[in-house]
Amino acid sequence: MERFYKFSSYLKEKYNKRVQKITIDAGFTCPVRDGNLSISGCFYCNNSGSGNKMSGLPVNEQIENQMKYYDKKYNNPLYILYFQAFTNSYDNTKNLIELYNYIYKYNNIISLAIGTRPDCINNSLLEHLSVMNRNKEVWIEIGLESANITTLNKIGRMHGIASFVDAITRIHYYNLKSCVHIIFGIPFDTSGDMLESIKLCSVLKADAIKIHSFYIEKGTVFEGIYRKRQLRLLSQEKYIEIVCNALRYLNKCTIIQRLTGDPNREMLIAPKWTLDKHRTLNMINDYMEKHNFMQGDLSSFNYVEKH
Ligand code: SF4
Repeated sequence: MERFYKFSSYLKEKYNKRVQKITIDAGFTCPVRDGNLSISGCFYCNNSGSGNKMSGLPVNEQIENQMKYYDKKYNNPLYILYFQAFTNSYDNTKNLIELYNYIYKYNNIISLAIGTRPDCINNSLLEHLSVMNRNKEVWIEIGLESANITTLNKIGRMHGIASFVDAITRIHYYNLKSCVHIIFGIPFDTSGDMLESIKLCSVLKADAIKIHSFYIEKGTVFEGIYRKRQLRLLSQEKYIEIVCNALRYLNKCTIIQRLTGDPNREMLIAPKWTLDKHRTLNMINDYMEKHNFMQGDLSSFNYVEKH
């Protein structure tokens, strides 16, 4: 029995075929790196902005190189074109649409996913995307990271909770799919803050979430903080316990796109357990099974009345 709603199940139901993400680094920057809001970047983010290994290549080459590899590996799957590195809506609408139009150049690309920040979405872009969404599903992935404004300030995000709520509300207004990125284990957050992030996604009816375990990589602001004073980092067991409890508060219809982080082995400083994604996922499945937890079995909880 599936104890949470996996992205692979959603894709299988919708397309009846394996669907693979192609990740693109289109050369963006972000307002917390280029001086618009700050220059430090978010304190956990390294210089690649979560980019892939093909950064620097033209977009068509990044697409075709990955297609060549996955076509062979998975026998010609369908593809989601995922603009991943940095803030992928941080340009004018005309340039962005030109870039996103790559989805029409390849018949086997069936969907577009755009990773961005809550303060970098404007209505003219959403309007264009809503037209694209008529024949190729459009996902907008918004980084929230924490529902605690003090934490957001301490990690250099430079946006608040209200701008996140505004972004999700407008994405839904234009009939686009929302995916929320959350980090569990940021040293300033309590487990209550992590639950609150999930409850917020439930209330807003996010279409999908990604939960990412906190880790420290070389070249980040957190590296400097960590080397000066020991930070409180989650153990693997505690992370699993918090994730499994949080899933109970998540709307049953919200798709889970990810439950682990994706640190680079050479860049990772701590905690080392975050490298073992398979073990973490197995432990989550075992914990859900052992405690008979299901996604959403507490989501009918009325957050407003109970507080
Ligand atoms: S997390 Fe996103 S917004 Fe923050 S510095 Fe990295 S790429 Fe930019």
